[in-house]
Amino acid sequence: MIQIYIPLNFLGVIYREIKQNLTDLDRMFVLMDRPQEVADAPGALALALPAAGSAPTVRLDDVHFAYEASRPILRGVSFEIPAGRTVAVVGPSGAGKSTLARLLFRFYDIQGGAITIDGQDIRQVVQESLRRAIGIVPQDTVLFNDTVAYNIGYGRPGASQREIEQAARAARIHDFIAATPQGYQTMVGERGLKLSGGEKQRVAIARTLLKNPPILVFDEATSALDSANERAIQAELREVARGKTTLVIAHRLSTVVDAHEILVMEHGRIAERGTHAALLAAGGAYARMWALQQNVGEDRP
Ligand code: ADP
Ligand code: MG
Repeated sequence: MIQIYIPLNFLGVIYREIKQNLTDLDRMFVLMDRPQEVADAPGALALALPAAGSAPTVRLDDVHFAYEASRPILRGVSFEIPAGRTVAVVGPSGAGKSTLARLLFRFYDIQGGAITIDGQDIRQVVQESLRRAIGIVPQDTVLFNDTVAYNIGYGRPGASQREIEQAARAARIHDFIAATPQGYQTMVGERGLKLSGGEKQRVAIARTLLKNPPILVFDEATSALDSANERAIQAELREVARGKTTLVIAHRLSTVVDAHEILVMEHGRIAERGTHAALLAAGGAYARMWALQQNVGEDRP
Protein backbone atom coordinates (compact mmCIF):
# COMPACT_ATOMS: atom_id res chain seq x y z
CA MET A 1 0.00 0.00 0.00
CA ILE A 2 1.30 3.44 -0.83
CA GLN A 3 1.27 5.86 2.06
CA ILE A 4 1.07 9.54 1.30
CA TYR A 5 2.11 11.93 3.98
CA ILE A 6 0.00 15.05 4.23
CA PRO A 7 0.70 17.46 7.06
CA LEU A 8 -2.21 17.25 9.47
CA ASN A 9 -2.42 21.00 9.88
CA PHE A 10 -2.82 21.47 6.17
CA LEU A 11 -5.68 19.00 6.00
CA GLY A 12 -7.14 20.60 9.10
CA VAL A 13 -7.24 24.06 7.59
CA ILE A 14 -8.95 22.88 4.42
CA TYR A 15 -11.39 20.74 6.26
CA ARG A 16 -12.20 23.45 8.75
CA GLU A 17 -13.10 25.77 5.94
CA ILE A 18 -15.25 23.24 4.18
CA LYS A 19 -17.09 21.73 7.07
CA GLN A 20 -17.23 24.01 10.06
CA ASN A 21 -19.90 22.10 11.84
CA LEU A 22 -18.83 18.51 11.81
CA THR A 23 -17.57 16.73 14.85
CA ASP A 24 -14.10 15.67 15.64
CA LEU A 25 -15.03 12.15 14.69
CA ASP A 26 -15.78 13.13 11.11
CA ARG A 27 -12.51 14.89 10.99
CA MET A 28 -10.73 12.01 12.57
CA PHE A 29 -11.96 9.79 9.77
CA VAL A 30 -10.70 12.27 7.23
CA LEU A 31 -7.33 12.23 8.91
CA MET A 32 -7.36 8.48 8.82
CA ASP A 33 -8.20 8.60 5.14
CA ARG A 34 -11.10 6.35 5.81
CA PRO A 35 -13.86 6.43 3.23
CA GLN A 36 -17.18 7.66 4.50
CA GLU A 37 -19.40 4.62 4.49
CA VAL A 38 -22.71 6.34 4.64
CA ALA A 39 -24.32 8.94 2.44
CA ASP A 40 -27.42 11.08 2.72
CA ALA A 41 -30.52 9.38 1.30
CA PRO A 42 -31.94 11.15 -1.75
CA GLY A 43 -34.27 13.86 -0.50
CA ALA A 44 -33.11 13.46 3.11
CA LEU A 45 -34.53 16.07 5.47
CA ALA A 46 -32.93 17.71 8.45
CA LEU A 47 -33.56 15.87 11.71
CA ALA A 48 -36.59 17.44 13.37
CA LEU A 49 -36.01 18.09 17.05
CA PRO A 50 -38.28 19.24 19.84
CA ALA A 51 -38.17 22.92 20.79
CA ALA A 52 -35.01 24.14 22.47
CA GLY A 53 -34.87 23.00 26.05
CA SER A 54 -36.49 19.62 25.40
CA ALA A 55 -34.89 16.48 24.06
CA PRO A 56 -35.97 13.67 21.72
CA THR A 57 -36.56 9.98 22.33
CA VAL A 58 -33.92 7.62 20.95
CA ARG A 59 -34.86 4.05 20.07
CA LEU A 60 -32.99 1.03 18.85
CA ASP A 61 -35.23 -1.70 17.47
CA ASP A 62 -33.71 -5.13 16.94
CA VAL A 63 -30.44 -3.67 15.70
CA HIS A 64 -28.07 -6.04 13.93
CA PHE A 65 -24.61 -4.94 12.94
CA ALA A 66 -21.27 -6.36 11.81
CA TYR A 67 -18.09 -4.55 10.75
CA GLU A 68 -17.21 -7.61 8.71
CA ALA A 69 -20.00 -9.83 7.42
CA SER A 70 -18.55 -12.96 8.96
CA ARG A 71 -18.50 -11.57 12.48
CA PRO A 72 -21.75 -10.23 13.97
CA ILE A 73 -21.13 -7.58 16.63
CA LEU A 74 -24.66 -6.55 17.61
CA ARG A 75 -27.21 -9.33 17.51
CA GLY A 76 -30.65 -7.91 18.03
CA VAL A 77 -30.31 -4.95 20.39
CA SER A 78 -33.46 -3.06 21.40
CA PHE A 79 -33.86 -0.30 23.92
CA GLU A 80 -35.32 3.15 24.28
CA ILE A 81 -33.92 6.25 25.89
CA PRO A 82 -37.02 8.27 26.72
CA ALA A 83 -36.73 11.99 26.09
CA GLY A 84 -34.48 13.59 28.66
CA ARG A 85 -33.57 10.35 30.45
CA THR A 86 -30.32 8.47 30.89
CA VAL A 87 -29.72 4.88 29.88
CA ALA A 88 -26.45 3.22 30.86
CA VAL A 89 -24.62 0.43 29.10
CA VAL A 90 -22.12 -1.74 30.95
CA GLY A 91 -20.40 -4.98 30.14
CA PRO A 92 -17.07 -6.54 29.30
CA SER A 93 -14.67 -5.07 26.79
CA GLY A 94 -15.53 -6.16 23.26
CA ALA A 95 -19.25 -6.53 24.02
CA GLY A 96 -20.20 -3.88 21.45
CA LYS A 97 -20.75 -0.86 23.70
CA SER A 98 -18.73 1.68 21.74
CA THR A 99 -20.25 0.30 18.56
CA LEU A 100 -23.63 1.55 19.83
CA ALA A 101 -22.24 5.07 20.03
CA ARG A 102 -20.78 4.86 16.52
CA LEU A 103 -24.06 3.59 15.09
CA LEU A 104 -26.12 6.30 16.76
CA PHE A 105 -23.81 8.83 15.13
CA ARG A 106 -24.23 6.87 11.90
CA PHE A 107 -20.63 6.15 11.16
CA TYR A 108 -21.92 2.90 9.75
CA ASP A 109 -25.31 1.74 8.61
CA ILE A 110 -26.86 -1.17 10.42
CA GLN A 111 -27.71 -4.42 8.66
CA GLY A 112 -31.01 -5.05 10.40
CA GLY A 113 -33.53 -3.23 12.54
CA ALA A 114 -33.77 0.52 12.98
CA ILE A 115 -32.40 3.42 14.98
CA THR A 116 -34.83 6.29 15.34
CA ILE A 117 -34.86 9.71 16.95
CA ASP A 118 -38.39 10.87 17.70
CA GLY A 119 -39.54 8.32 15.15
CA GLN A 120 -37.18 9.47 12.39
CA ASP A 121 -34.95 6.73 11.03
CA ILE A 122 -31.42 8.12 11.18
CA ARG A 123 -30.75 6.73 7.68
CA GLN A 124 -33.37 9.11 6.36
CA VAL A 125 -32.07 12.38 7.80
CA VAL A 126 -29.25 14.69 6.72
CA GLN A 127 -26.13 13.43 8.44
CA GLU A 128 -24.94 16.87 9.36
CA SER A 129 -28.19 17.55 11.23
CA LEU A 130 -27.91 14.22 13.03
CA ARG A 131 -24.35 14.88 14.13
CA ARG A 132 -25.17 18.37 15.27
CA ALA A 133 -27.81 16.93 17.59
CA ILE A 134 -25.45 14.49 19.28
CA GLY A 135 -22.43 15.16 21.46
CA ILE A 136 -20.06 12.29 22.02
CA VAL A 137 -17.28 12.18 24.54
CA PRO A 138 -15.40 9.27 23.05
CA GLN A 139 -13.29 6.68 24.75
CA ASP A 140 -10.13 7.90 23.02
CA THR A 141 -10.10 11.55 22.14
CA VAL A 142 -8.14 12.70 19.14
CA LEU A 143 -7.04 16.32 19.37
CA PHE A 144 -6.25 18.51 16.41
CA ASN A 145 -2.85 20.04 15.88
CA ASP A 146 -4.21 23.40 16.81
CA THR A 147 -4.64 25.59 19.87
CA VAL A 148 -6.42 24.52 23.04
CA ALA A 149 -8.98 27.23 22.32
CA TYR A 150 -9.67 25.75 18.89
CA ASN A 151 -9.90 22.22 20.26
CA ILE A 152 -12.54 23.25 22.78
CA GLY A 153 -14.26 25.88 20.64
CA TYR A 154 -14.73 23.32 17.92
CA GLY A 155 -17.77 22.18 19.87
CA ARG A 156 -19.54 25.36 18.87
CA PRO A 157 -18.20 27.42 15.98
CA GLY A 158 -18.26 31.08 16.89
CA ALA A 159 -18.02 30.49 20.65
CA SER A 160 -16.49 33.36 22.58
CA GLN A 161 -13.37 33.08 24.70
CA ARG A 162 -15.56 33.48 27.76
CA GLU A 163 -17.76 30.54 26.75
CA ILE A 164 -14.71 28.43 26.01
CA GLU A 165 -13.28 29.19 29.43
CA GLN A 166 -16.57 28.46 31.12
CA ALA A 167 -16.68 25.01 29.49
CA ALA A 168 -13.03 24.43 30.41
CA ARG A 169 -13.74 25.30 34.03
CA ALA A 170 -16.68 22.90 34.15
CA ALA A 171 -14.47 20.16 32.71
CA ARG A 172 -11.78 21.01 35.29
CA ILE A 173 -9.12 21.75 32.68
CA HIS A 174 -9.04 25.55 32.92
CA ASP A 175 -6.41 25.76 35.66
CA PHE A 176 -4.13 23.44 33.74
CA ILE A 177 -4.50 25.50 30.57
CA ALA A 178 -4.08 28.81 32.37
CA ALA A 179 -0.81 27.58 33.85
CA THR A 180 0.79 27.02 30.43
CA PRO A 181 2.84 29.99 29.11
CA GLN A 182 0.55 30.61 26.16
CA GLY A 183 -2.68 29.62 27.87
CA TYR A 184 -5.53 28.97 25.48
CA GLN A 185 -3.24 29.71 22.53
CA THR A 186 -1.00 26.76 23.38
CA MET A 187 -0.70 24.34 20.48
CA VAL A 188 -1.65 20.76 21.33
CA GLY A 189 -1.45 17.48 19.49
CA GLU A 190 1.38 15.62 17.89
CA ARG A 191 3.56 18.65 17.35
CA GLY A 192 2.45 20.72 20.31
CA LEU A 193 1.87 20.15 23.98
CA LYS A 194 1.30 16.50 24.71
CA LEU A 195 -1.70 15.95 26.94
CA SER A 196 -2.29 12.92 29.12
CA GLY A 197 -5.29 10.68 28.49
CA GLY A 198 -7.16 12.36 31.33
CA GLU A 199 -6.38 15.87 30.06
CA LYS A 200 -7.54 14.94 26.57
CA GLN A 201 -10.75 13.57 28.02
CA ARG A 202 -11.32 16.83 29.84
CA VAL A 203 -10.80 18.78 26.62
CA ALA A 204 -13.37 16.51 24.93
CA ILE A 205 -15.78 17.04 27.81
CA ALA A 206 -15.34 20.82 27.58
CA ARG A 207 -15.99 20.64 23.83
CA THR A 208 -19.21 18.70 24.39
CA LEU A 209 -20.38 21.00 27.18
CA LEU A 210 -19.90 23.91 24.81
CA LYS A 211 -21.72 22.15 21.97
CA ASN A 212 -24.65 21.58 24.33
CA PRO A 213 -26.60 19.17 22.10
CA PRO A 214 -29.94 17.54 23.07
CA ILE A 215 -28.47 14.01 22.85
CA LEU A 216 -25.34 13.06 24.75
CA VAL A 217 -23.16 9.98 24.58
CA PHE A 218 -20.44 9.48 27.17
CA ASP A 219 -18.28 6.54 26.19
CA GLU A 220 -16.30 5.76 29.33
CA ALA A 221 -15.79 9.49 29.35
CA THR A 222 -14.00 9.65 32.65
CA SER A 223 -12.15 6.35 32.57
CA ALA A 224 -8.71 7.97 32.28
CA LEU A 225 -9.21 10.25 35.28
CA ASP A 226 -8.15 9.67 38.83
CA SER A 227 -11.07 9.17 41.18
CA ALA A 228 -11.08 12.69 42.67
CA ASN A 229 -11.30 14.29 39.24
CA GLU A 230 -13.73 11.65 38.08
CA ARG A 231 -16.10 12.37 40.94
CA ALA A 232 -15.96 16.11 40.29
CA ILE A 233 -16.54 15.74 36.57
CA GLN A 234 -19.25 13.12 37.05
CA ALA A 235 -21.17 15.65 39.11
CA GLU A 236 -20.70 18.16 36.31
CA LEU A 237 -21.79 15.67 33.64
CA ARG A 238 -24.88 14.73 35.62
CA GLU A 239 -25.77 18.39 35.74
CA VAL A 240 -25.22 18.78 31.99
CA ALA A 241 -27.20 15.63 31.20
CA ARG A 242 -30.22 16.89 33.10
CA GLY A 243 -33.10 17.09 30.62
CA LYS A 244 -30.99 15.64 27.81
CA THR A 245 -31.34 12.22 26.24
CA THR A 246 -28.19 10.50 27.39
CA LEU A 247 -26.41 7.24 26.73
CA VAL A 248 -23.70 6.53 29.27
CA ILE A 249 -21.27 3.76 28.52
CA ALA A 250 -19.74 3.13 31.85
CA HIS A 251 -16.70 1.53 33.19
CA ARG A 252 -17.19 2.23 36.85
CA LEU A 253 -20.65 1.14 37.96
CA SER A 254 -20.85 3.81 40.65
CA THR A 255 -21.49 6.26 37.80
CA VAL A 256 -24.67 4.53 36.57
CA VAL A 257 -26.68 3.86 39.71
CA ASP A 258 -29.16 6.63 38.94
CA ALA A 259 -29.82 5.63 35.33
CA HIS A 260 -33.40 5.17 34.16
CA GLU A 261 -32.32 1.77 32.85
CA ILE A 262 -29.04 -0.13 32.90
CA LEU A 263 -28.25 -2.53 30.07
CA VAL A 264 -25.68 -5.25 30.59
CA MET A 265 -24.22 -6.16 27.21
CA GLU A 266 -22.47 -9.40 26.49
CA HIS A 267 -21.39 -10.59 23.05
CA GLY A 268 -23.60 -8.14 21.20
CA ARG A 269 -26.76 -8.86 23.14
CA ILE A 270 -28.44 -7.33 26.14
CA ALA A 271 -27.93 -10.00 28.75
CA GLU A 272 -29.67 -8.17 31.59
CA ARG A 273 -31.55 -4.94 32.00
CA GLY A 274 -33.22 -2.97 34.73
CA THR A 275 -32.62 -0.35 37.36
CA HIS A 276 -29.64 -0.61 39.66
CA ALA A 277 -31.82 -1.88 42.51
CA ALA A 278 -33.61 -4.44 40.35
CA LEU A 279 -30.36 -5.74 38.88
CA LEU A 280 -28.78 -6.07 42.31
CA ALA A 281 -31.84 -7.94 43.55
CA ALA A 282 -31.71 -10.26 40.52
CA GLY A 283 -28.26 -11.42 41.61
CA GLY A 284 -26.92 -11.92 38.08
CA ALA A 285 -23.98 -10.58 36.09
CA TYR A 286 -24.54 -6.97 37.17
CA ALA A 287 -24.73 -7.89 40.83
CA ARG A 288 -21.46 -9.82 40.48
CA MET A 289 -19.76 -6.89 38.72
CA TRP A 290 -21.01 -4.56 41.42
CA ALA A 291 -19.70 -6.79 44.20
CA LEU A 292 -16.31 -7.01 42.48
CA GLN A 293 -16.01 -3.25 42.08
CA GLN A 294 -16.73 -2.66 45.74
CA ASN A 295 -13.48 -4.43 46.55
CA VAL A 296 -11.37 -2.57 44.04
CA GLY A 297 -9.01 0.14 45.31
CA GLU A 298 -10.44 3.64 45.02
CA ASP A 299 -7.77 5.07 42.79
CA ARG A 300 -7.53 2.34 40.22
CA PRO A 301 -8.91 3.88 37.04
P1 ADP B 1 -16.68 -2.32 23.68
O1 ADP B 1 -16.82 -0.84 23.55
O2 ADP B 1 -17.83 -2.98 24.36
O3 ADP B 1 -15.40 -2.71 24.33
P2 ADP B 1 -16.64 -2.27 20.77
O4 ADP B 1 -18.01 -1.85 20.41
O5 ADP B 1 -15.56 -1.25 20.67
O6 ADP B 1 -16.65 -2.96 22.20
O7 ADP B 1 -16.22 -3.49 19.85
C1 ADP B 1 -17.02 -4.64 19.71
C2 ADP B 1 -16.30 -5.62 18.83
O8 ADP B 1 -16.17 -5.07 17.52
C3 ADP B 1 -14.89 -5.95 19.29
O9 ADP B 1 -14.70 -7.33 19.10
C4 ADP B 1 -14.02 -5.15 18.36
O10 ADP B 1 -12.82 -5.81 18.16
C5 ADP B 1 -14.83 -5.11 17.10
N1 ADP B 1 -14.56 -3.89 16.31
C6 ADP B 1 -14.61 -2.62 16.78
N2 ADP B 1 -14.34 -1.73 15.78
C7 ADP B 1 -14.10 -2.46 14.67
C8 ADP B 1 -13.78 -2.14 13.32
N3 ADP B 1 -13.65 -0.86 12.92
N4 ADP B 1 -13.62 -3.16 12.45
C9 ADP B 1 -13.76 -4.44 12.85
N5 ADP B 1 -14.07 -4.82 14.10
C10 ADP B 1 -14.25 -3.85 15.01
MG1 MG C 1 -15.64 0.72 24.13
